[in-house]
Amino acid sequence: MIDYCILGSGISGSTIANLLSKKHSVVVVDKSKGIGGRTSNKRLKTFSFDHGLQYYSSKNKQFEKFLNLLMKKKVLKYWNGNHLDFTFKKKIVSRKIIGTNGNNNLCKFLLNNINKILDTEILSIKYKEKKWIIKSKHKLILAKNVIITFPFQQTVSLAKKFLKKNILDLKVKMEPNLTLLVSENNAKRIPISSIKLSNSILSWISNENSKERFISNKNLWTIQTNYEFSKKNINFYKKKRAYYSKLILNEFVKITGIEKKKLKIIKIHGWKYSYNRNKTKFKSYWDNNIGFGLCGDWLIGPNAESAWLSASNLYSQIKKPA
Ligand SMILES: Cc1cc2nc3c(=O)[nH]c(=O)nc-3n(C[C@H](O)[C@H](O)[C@H](O)COP(=O)(O)OP(=O)(O)OC[C@H]3O[C@@H](n4cnc5c(N)ncnc54)[C@H](O)[C@@H]3O)c2cc1C
Repeated sequence: MIDYCILGSGISGSTIANLLSKKHSVVVVDKSKGIGGRTSNKRLKTFSFDHGLQYYSSKNKQFEKFLNLLMKKKVLKYWNGNHLDFTFKKKIVSRKIIGTNGNNNLCKFLLNNINKILDTEILSIKYKEKKWIIKSKHKLILAKNVIITFPFQQTVSLAKKFLKKNILDLKVKMEPNLTLLVSENNAKRIPISSIKLSNSILSWISNENSKERFISNKNLWTIQTNYEFSKKNINFYKKKRAYYSKLILNEFVKITGIEKKKLKIIKIHGWKYSYNRNKTKFKSYWDNNIGFGLCGDWLIGPNAESAWLSASNLYSQIKKPA
């Protein structure tokens, strides 16, 4: 029987799996075909889009040290170029860090030597005779401990029975996001890496070519809609993909002045649970009696740093003698 079954291969799942794997047997399970959760990178033949997390940044010293280490190992690198900010609200993040080949590089690196079961959605978990029985449609995993790293709403739907009232009572609102991936044919290189916007249904545009991962005569654009637009439309876009794609594309054309006939829609993707702007009173959760843990960005804040800090905090709770 495995010591720890980690559910989710995003930043929090890969961080806790990597830490625990130094002394215990670990398996990581994810419903997606690829590793990385919300850091996922959409790969198409010779090029790719980061359609989730856009870049890593750090406020916490430990996380900064970790990012620096991964830059030395060439897992991560700086995202250079012109980053335009038309919101004029906050101080611009001075250094933007991305994966060398894709933003899920960080998770791939942490899970390199760890046993993974992908493309496997967990449907139920049960605790019986001091062991966890973790079930998907076709698989059954037995483990001494289980750790869930899903967004809050998905955690509740899988494990309500094992969550104490103080967790169930948390008011966690995860914001949605609609993302459009577009390619531009016969394009000249544009000397802009990203654009942060206000007064538009769009909140962010990134120029994938500026990440210098591939050479192409196409420009690739990742376009995100703002909170109000995403919230209003997230539950409808699946039935009207063409309509929403065109709406977002038209706004992109209006802002950039790029000729519409050169643009091709690659994909529209809806993130129902992008991030939780607020923090909870917990950094992670661990019940030593049944070997049950939770970590994830939503406990601490809206970004990769929060996911990493939550997983690190859970590890220190598990290590503490009961
Ligand atoms: C569009 C977008 C843009 C963002 N931009 C930034 C940014 O620029 N900078 C930044 O720092 N952060 C950004 N974030 C937030 C950042 O991506 C997250 O904070 C971080 O990736 C969360 O990691 P996590 O491991 O906690 O969760 P996740 O990455 O969500 O990992 C959870 C995993 O659980 C899996 N899972 C869920 N249910 C099941 C199930 N039943 N069975 C099996 N597996 C399951 C999922 O497939 C997923 O892989 C962005 C997020 C989005 C969506």
